[in-house]
Amino acid sequence: MMMGHRSPEAALKARASTHLCAILRHSRSDSIRARASSRPDPTKSEEGPKSPPLIVSLDDVRQRAYAALLGSAIGDALGATTEFMMPEEIKQRHGVLREIIGGGWLRLSAGQVTDDTQMALCVARSIAESGWSLTDIADRFASWLKSRPVDVGSTCRRGIRRYMVHGTLAGPPFEDDAGNGAVMRVAPVAIASLVDTKLMREWSIEQAHITHNHDLSDCACILVGSLIQLACIATSKLRLLQLVTNLTTDVASFGFRPYRRLCTAYVVDTMQTVLHYFFTTRTFEDCLVGTVNQGGDADTAGAIVGAIAGAYYGLDSIPRRWIKKLPPTIVEEIQSLSSKLVAGSPLSAGRPIPSFQDFSVMKGKCEKGNSKWK
Ligand code: MN
Ligand code: MN
Repeated sequence: MMMGHRSPEAALKARASTHLCAILRHSRSDSIRARASSRPDPTKSEEGPKSPPLIVSLDDVRQRAYAALLGSAIGDALGATTEFMMPEEIKQRHGVLREIIGGGWLRLSAGQVTDDTQMALCVARSIAESGWSLTDIADRFASWLKSRPVDVGSTCRRGIRRYMVHGTLAGPPFEDDAGNGAVMRVAPVAIASLVDTKLMREWSIEQAHITHNHDLSDCACILVGSLIQLACIATSKLRLLQLVTNLTTDVASFGFRPYRRLCTAYVVDTMQTVLHYFFTTRTFEDCLVGTVNQGGDADTAGAIVGAIAGAYYGLDSIPRRWIKKLPPTIVEEIQSLSSKLVAGSPLSAGRPIPSFQDFSVMKGKCEKGNSKWK
């Protein structure tokens, strides 16, 4: 660390000021408690040394974590209707799809969820019951695969089979692995590791590599994990956009402006769709409706953006009529799991919230994928 020219106290102050205050100064004040009575002056730059330490309300974090997992299941159930359809086809058949009605190529009942939610639940249950154990996660994936799920992505199937046959917890890097299967189940990892950015990155990638080993998939996991963590501590959308802008300088492929209107099994297209709809809408409902009416890998994009938007807009923003469509057992389980994951997180153990910079470093990775999809 290059701080020899400063007194330790000055260094500490400088660190504290680039600390969460930088993140929180744009945040909605109702969900944040400041230990000191004065809030940081938003007009001051990060140099301002007087920012008081800030903490988040664990109740609020728990609600946002619940909304993230619930939002993800809702995005899956809503988007399953339009999965693999073209936007024009969706328009012809549904006008604008705004309701959870099931159907789709899987002929689902209304509110039925698919692999995206089921795999995320495997991860969530595993962490809640066993702490961090890759073997336990892989075992749950294996039992799930054996239960003849309604849908399984081909890369996920291959990875799980490899584990079942050879016991391998990570496949070798593979150019076909730049799909959505790892990032669609990253939300529970982001919540369980709140807000240890290093742990979130490690865990996200470890769970990803059970089935997907590709830089672009890794990057998507880290980006989505970072957005969920920041949203869970009530970070403003301006700040989230700043994070994405910082990271997409490194990961040029995820740049979503101008939006190419593609949502496919390729993680780059899906990430662009997720980012486009999250940043160009103002409510949970509009964000999800926009995303799933784009078609393509609609349930997966819905599941990913539903987690981010759920954490960001919070529980009250999720339309009741959508929650009512989900099986009550899933809603109850998601509530209980999300509160267990938050309770076991470093945040609940009193870990201080890291600086915004800690969230925005992804240098030296993912600048170019070697994907056949490009
Ligand atoms: Mn699915
Ligand atoms: Mn899908």
